[in-house]
Amino acid sequence: MQTKIILEESDIPTHWYNVVADMPNPPPPPLGPDGQPIGPEALAPIFPMALIEQEVSAERWLPIPERVREALQLWRPSPLYRAHRLEQMLGTPAKIYYKYEGVSPAGSHKPNTAVAQAYYNHEAGIRRLATETGAGQWGSSLAFAGQMFGLDVRVYMVKVSYEQKPFRRSMMETWGAEVLASPSNLTESGRKILAEDPDSQGSLGIAISEAVEEAATHEGTNYALGSVLNHVCHHQTVIGQEAKKQLERVGDYPDMIIGCCGGGSNFAGIAFPFLADKAAGREVRLIAAEPASCPTLTRGHYAYDFGDNAGLTPLMKMFTLGHDFMPPGIHAGGLRYHGDSPLVSQLCKEGIIEAVAVSQLATFEAGVQFARTEGIIPAPESCHAIRTVVDEALACKERGEGQTILFNLSGHGHFDMAAYDSYFSGKLEDFEYPQEAIAASLQHLPKVG
Ligand SMILES: *Cc1c(COP(=O)(O)O)cnc(C)c1O
Repeated sequence: MQTKIILEESDIPTHWYNVVADMPNPPPPPLGPDGQPIGPEALAPIFPMALIEQEVSAERWLPIPERVREALQLWRPSPLYRAHRLEQMLGTPAKIYYKYEGVSPAGSHKPNTAVAQAYYNHEAGIRRLATETGAGQWGSSLAFAGQMFGLDVRVYMVKVSYEQKPFRRSMMETWGAEVLASPSNLTESGRKILAEDPDSQGSLGIAISEAVEEAATHEGTNYALGSVLNHVCHHQTVIGQEAKKQLERVGDYPDMIIGCCGGGSNFAGIAFPFLADKAAGREVRLIAAEPASCPTLTRGHYAYDFGDNAGLTPLMKMFTLGHDFMPPGIHAGGLRYHGDSPLVSQLCKEGIIEAVAVSQLATFEAGVQFARTEGIIPAPESCHAIRTVVDEALACKERGEGQTILFNLSGHGHFDMAAYDSYFSGKLEDFEYPQEAIAASLQHLPKVG
């Protein structure tokens, strides 16, 4: 009975997979403030040209530079596990496999794109990166990657996390990054929010505004985003490509693939490489699991919206809850984003992938079951995938059907024990976003497209 399927360093993919090549319809272009499609030059003040080219590329395979593959070797290929004990505990005939991305230095999938972004910025002569972080996972990943390629990193960290997660901050500082609580008084966007509400706890949308503003107004400083954008989704496809090879080794192929979904990149990473097979006629379900309290794909509008709070980014066609949507303080900080990857959004709109929303208590219940059977303590974000896996495995049991389920365990929860603590002490609550509140923030969607 094989439990752990491991690959050699030489099995790390040589190319990223670009799903655009296999989509039935081309993605709608990003728009400028005037409602007209923007050209690559509009992104040049904040991104290096190599990443902009990947952002707009329709090529199926994008070569991974050798120095990026070398950096990925620190933790890749990541292991694929068969969850025998979880299957047994559920009494399901389904086979459950999980790809474990918590083996990276920062403890999640995010360094897969962080090292690539740091590399291309370094190659373009950039000295410094500005970015935002919610729960701290992206900030830690970029801080680490900055060290790999000799870049200074400044992180605008959502204030509520800055105060609640001091150890994430220490991690970023250990990797040499400078960490500021957002909203800060260093940027126009931050000062504007503070003038209206001096006690603002911040949001991902506000922190993005601050980081983008800094990059746009400082020579030699660029911006890096940890999810949502096409190039970030491409970079994460090393996950699914490896998983496919690992399943081949044991003669298996998934009937369904499940990932949690915040900005969409880890779901894209595990699912997109299988979408190529689906496009060629193979039967496979791809399911994105999101929080019921920030239900972008399941209850948002598919429309053009800003990626940030202040409206500094180009407009992207995506599922959105409105750029001034204020998600409640649930513990899966990495899933609290008003929008979603335009690629994931379009595939969802066209019915090629599915989305489900799960509530917080149920996700922790499944996460604890997982830890007690499989050993690994999952990140609260990953618990959303696990909840969905458990539900599907139980449905298989009901139907008496031994399907094969693959999911992405996007990270470990070692820095989220306060969240588990709240769960155990009964302080955690479910929160369904009221329809009126969603409708109110959707009123502010830009009137374009
Ligand atoms: C950031 C994060 C996520 C969600 O981000 P995506 O862009 O949807 O991948 C999920 N899991 C972990 C552990 C994260 O850090």
